[in-house]
Amino acid sequence: MQFDLRSFLENARVPYQAHFLADLSQADFGSFALSAPAECDFSATPTAEGAALLLCVKAQIEAECARCLEPIHRQYDFQREYLVRMRDVEDPDFELPCQEKGCLDLNELVFQELVFEVPAVLLCSADCQGLCPICGKKKVAGCTCHSADDAAPVDARLSILKQLLS
Ligand SMILES: [Zn+2]
Ligand SMILES: [Zn+2]
Repeated sequence: MQFDLRSFLENARVPYQAHFLADLSQADFGSFALSAPAECDFSATPTAEGAALLLCVKAQIEAECARCLEPIHRQYDFQREYLVRMRDVEDPDFELPCQEKGCLDLNELVFQELVFEVPAVLLCSADCQGLCPICGKKKVAGCTCHSADDAAPVDARLSILKQLLS
């Protein structure tokens, strides 16, 4: 979805509002994907300086826990505000995805904000202990390898001690 930011800054006297779906199913987010198009609300309000933009994004993400690989489904719901002036549209370093004609690419903006909002490393829970290196099960599920796991280094040290003593 495109928003003609330049002509809004030049002419608008009344606020603009739009509800749209950003289909980012093909977008490459790296560590996660969207299970459905993001539900977005966008508004622009004329100000003395230029325009105040508001973007609200609701997105359902699919990912894998970085430690135990368990599927993660998580809802993100956030909003961003931007204050824009006419000279920003001409600025090559303008932070918003604005094309040459002054059109704002709202899908691209939603993409950028999701990349910013969702952590690059997602965990099923903050204290996920990952997988047991011996049996491959989730550690919190309580595998029986813990004693063997703890005993191994002790055994190694003991065998060195025995060698020294002999
Ligand atoms: Zn996990
Ligand atoms: Zn185990």
